[in-house]
Amino acid sequence: SGTPHWLFGDQLGPHFVDPARGGPHRDAPLVMIEARSVFRRRRFHRAKAHLVLSAMRHRAAELGDRVRYVRADTYRQGLREAVGGGPVTVHHPTSHAALALVHALPSVRVLPARGFLVTHDDFRNWADDRGTKHLRQEDFYRWVRQTHDLLMEGDRPVGGRWNLDHDNRQPPPKGAPDLGVPAPYRPRESDIDAEVRSDLDRWEREGDAEFVGEDGPRGFPATRREALAALRRFVEHRLITFGAHEDAVLAGDATMSHSLLSSSLNLGLLDPAECVERAEARWRSGDVPLNSAEGFVRQIAGWREFVWHVYWYFGTQYRENNALRHHERLPDWFTELSPDATEANCLSHVLEQVRTTGWTHHIPRLMILGSFALQRGWEPRAVTDWFHRSFVDGYDWVMVPNVVGMSQYADGGRMTTKPYTSGGAYIDRMSDLCGPCRFKPSVRVGEDACPFTAGYWNLLHRHRDRFERNARMTQAVRGLDRLRDLDELLEQERERRD
Ligand code: FAD
Repeated sequence: SGTPHWLFGDQLGPHFVDPARGGPHRDAPLVMIEARSVFRRRRFHRAKAHLVLSAMRHRAAELGDRVRYVRADTYRQGLREAVGGGPVTVHHPTSHAALALVHALPSVRVLPARGFLVTHDDFRNWADDRGTKHLRQEDFYRWVRQTHDLLMEGDRPVGGRWNLDHDNRQPPPKGAPDLGVPAPYRPRESDIDAEVRSDLDRWEREGDAEFVGEDGPRGFPATRREALAALRRFVEHRLITFGAHEDAVLAGDATMSHSLLSSSLNLGLLDPAECVERAEARWRSGDVPLNSAEGFVRQIAGWREFVWHVYWYFGTQYRENNALRHHERLPDWFTELSPDATEANCLSHVLEQVRTTGWTHHIPRLMILGSFALQRGWEPRAVTDWFHRSFVDGYDWVMVPNVVGMSQYADGGRMTTKPYTSGGAYIDRMSDLCGPCRFKPSVRVGEDACPFTAGYWNLLHRHRDRFERNARMTQAVRGLDRLRDLDELLEQERERRD
């Protein structure tokens, strides 16, 4: 009963200390370790370093005497300082590296993972039953809906369809500068934030850590209370418009109707079950349309769960995949988040957003940043590392499948049916970013050639053999045969690269 329990920095909500759900005993002392080496290993966005430290220190302040909060160089040292060699419990951590560490420490007993709907065993059974090395999110999502009774009427999906994606791909409203929805919740900073900021300043000054990006006023929740306020505001005022324009991008409206809950979920401040239950309740009471409720439930019960389990199921080698053999280095302007270095308005705009906030919604990540990296042939591992460092919600488990699998197609299609990339026409249709751009989405060769349009054809050409064998890509690849200026385009792209 008195065995101390260790909380990692992404295990901060009540569901990580709940004896009724397999957590530590009510009286068990708690241990938290702030390991400086984490910041020395990687050059994180400062807003992310700030958020994580702020959340940990706020949690420690809430727990008061019950927690021993240790500042140490490494986790090992911190644990030694907190409990000597004595026994400790910990919930299953969220990265392969952290799991290997806790398994290597003989005194640590690992309890089941928290913060996800589906257990490791249930996922393994589901995936093994498929009998294939290709897993599909859509199949998984339907199974989760059934087994967790989410938006179901008996054994059928409410409204008769599993997936309302079709309704959720509308371009942005024409001519509107923003979506006109109530703003998302933003927290107010506390003394703890001031202390974090001054620590980060000192570490930078003393050469003990280096960061990128701007650490403006903290934009994301650091406490359970703040996270609940953010969830409430989203569900009550913003969920209603979540669906229709989910994939659209507006220069003047970075957040649109997105929930901004990813960092809170990933810090463990919110449990996914409470998020999807509240969304469903809003639909059941007739307050939000089904395409919005279903779209949101799919993001959390479908995508987020799927990505978590794929990370574990595909194992430690998954991150090394490089099916397209991409080996180019990321340019410095990209890693330094220098938006002025590129003339492509969409890319510059999104990089600026990342620089100032550490966040953009899924379409800029997938169809602008990720798609650009894929087209340029950047090394998937380095791209994964960049995303991990630059986003407030980035953690190993969520970045590896999203970048290696989803965005860079480096796993050759084990978790997606085709590469996610496009020419400028898609970006033009789904955003207002092309209007002011000096490039033209329809032009592929010459001064005005859109880097995405040219990059798209270049990528298809380079991987023609592989893509031709994919039924969902055949038509796109055949388009190459209609390009009379293909040789010119390839020459242009070769020069651009050098
Ligand atoms: P909403 O649009 O409001 O969606 C609701 C929630 O669904 C999110 O909060 C998130 O928890 C969950 N979700 C949706 N899609 C995914 C997904 N593919 N993977 C995991 N969760 C998902 N999400 C992260 O949490 N951390 C990451 O490091 C991350 N990296 C990404 C990298 C790439 C290249 C891509 C394409 C996507 C990535 N995502 C990541 C997924 C998604 O873009 C973000 O979760 C989302 O944009 C966060 O904003 P939001 O909370 O407003 O999301």
